[in-house]
Amino acid sequence: MNEVNNWNSLEKLNSISKYPTALITKIFENVSEGIMITDKHKKIEMVNPAFEFVTGYKRDEVIGKTPAVLQSGVHELPFYLNMWEKIRQEGIWQGEIWNRRKTGDVYPEWLTIVGVTNDAGEISNYCGIFTDLSERKIVENELEKRLLTDSLTDVSNRFAYIERMDSLLESTSAISHSVQHAVYFLDLDRFKQINDTLGHAVGDTILIEIATRLQTLLKNKDIIARYGGDEFIITLTNVKNVREAAKFAEQIIQVIEQPMDINGQNIFISTSIGISMYPVDGESTEQLTHCADKAMTYSKKNGRNGYSFYFDELQTDSQRVLLLDSELRKAIDEREFELYFQPKIEMDNEQIQGLEALVRWNSESLGFVSPAEFIPYAEETGLIIPLSEIIIEKACEAVIKLQQFGLKIPIAINISSIHFKQSNFLESVQVILERYNTPANNFEIEVTERTVMNSATETVSKLVRLKQLGFKISIDDFGTGYSSLSYLVRFPLDCLKIDRSFIQHISSLDEKQAVVDAIIQMSHRLKMKVVAEGVEQAQQVDILRKMNCDIIQGYYYSKPLPLDELLEFIEFWEIEHQGRK
Ligand code: C2E
Ligand code: CA
Ligand code: CA
Repeated sequence: MNEVNNWNSLEKLNSISKYPTALITKIFENVSEGIMITDKHKKIEMVNPAFEFVTGYKRDEVIGKTPAVLQSGVHELPFYLNMWEKIRQEGIWQGEIWNRRKTGDVYPEWLTIVGVTNDAGEISNYCGIFTDLSERKIVENELEKRLLTDSLTDVSNRFAYIERMDSLLESTSAISHSVQHAVYFLDLDRFKQINDTLGHAVGDTILIEIATRLQTLLKNKDIIARYGGDEFIITLTNVKNVREAAKFAEQIIQVIEQPMDINGQNIFISTSIGISMYPVDGESTEQLTHCADKAMTYSKKNGRNGYSFYFDELQTDSQRVLLLDSELRKAIDEREFELYFQPKIEMDNEQIQGLEALVRWNSESLGFVSPAEFIPYAEETGLIIPLSEIIIEKACEAVIKLQQFGLKIPIAINISSIHFKQSNFLESVQVILERYNTPANNFEIEVTERTVMNSATETVSKLVRLKQLGFKISIDDFGTGYSSLSYLVRFPLDCLKIDRSFIQHISSLDEKQAVVDAIIQMSHRLKMKVVAEGVEQAQQVDILRKMNCDIIQGYYYSKPLPLDELLEFIEFWEIEHQGRK
């Protein structure tokens, strides 16, 4: 810096310098930094060739002028005032500054200005030394762009999205809380399949096309980013209400649905969308994307090519799984389950032919949990086996209770295939029945089609032994698996339960009616009784009666009931139907 301080003008410099004139001149002429020396009034006295090169001004064009000729207009007056104030106080200023070349181009430079003082300590000259930063800037911009944009689709990438969202939310919260934004999480449906069958090049083309189409929907403040492989995320800013947010989701679906012509082939793409709203669903980028992601998964599960808004139950989802595990184990230890019973009504005499035991769990911390939720979970984790044993024990207790009321109605127990396939399944059931001293003919075993499908020989022998012990056997949810009736001939079955999905539309859909009719006829030929599940309307009962369905179960007669309510129901039923026996 000392050397710089001494660069007043070349002559002066030379006179006081301990370096030879020729050397100083050589440096001045050859350095790549532009150098400009002014007098104390800031009138330019000399410039070097690098100055001429960077600014485009020849020496003669600037001598006698002030450096203001280079001003770009980028900086406001206070910027220059501060700069000169700093030089006055500290003798030096350094920083990035935008100047203008003779051609009019504005460019950034790294500038050092030094105030040179004479022996009396007064400023005699100023010396400015600068490096052109424009090339470095271009590189930096390029790097930044590469860091922030997705190289395939040219929209923002995940990092840029987070950054832009953060600053959006920051500025929003500063304005007002009545502002709303909608975040859309998009996941293309079956994209993996497309990639696998048509190749990655086609997959890439599709992604680019989708990004282009999505961009046509956006206004300038909206944000779009490619979030991952086939995921995009969009923020629609300043949304008036949920309806507007929903309408936009429909637009997204519409633009994506349009067929894409790729190599002369029409390709159809659809997307599943999850939406979260700022601020109700979250006030941070992380919360909003998390919620939108959850809602997207929900959309996927609900049939794809649709959108769902986030709702609180989705949040509990993942926390719930963790809780479910620990609570279920605890509940099994403490036998926290109850059985409800749903009557099955015989059509020809209107008697209660049997009861289906359905497990209920009212957890202290989770509240009521549906068996449709915890049974599959118990199956996944193997907890179904101890659980199933508790259910069988409770069914034994119910049989004994019914006997005390003089009732002998068989109870049907649902047996999971996991339990059924255990090698000691038969023994474990027998042990329980012996312990309660309840013979097997009080029970019916319900197994699903899927349970009996594979490993036929072992299954057959198990079922045969169950029958020999006195159990009745029903095939549950018939129609949802893939077995044909003729396949079922090999099993010793007493009843076939037609799945609720067939019964549901039996009064409106002719083809469902035809299927149910065929199942009933064939089952009868195979000497099986037929139970219709999930019957809710009188009209369904009429149709089923005409088809000679043997037994009906469903809300039409009764929901599953706890044992004490069941006893009331039976009493009421017997009074109503006396004499019809
Ligand atoms: P599932 O064996 O097919 O049981 C019939 C389901 O349909 C029961 O649901 C019952 O409450 C319901 N339902 C009965 N009538 C009607 C109706 O008219 N309309 C409608 N909409 N539904 C009706 P739940 O109790 O929620 O049980 C669901 C499933 O959970 C059962 O389907 C069964 O697969 C499983 N499950 C329930 N209890 C047990 C059990 O003790 N052990 C095993 N392994 N699985 C069980
Ligand atoms: Ca069942
Ligand atoms: Ca069923």
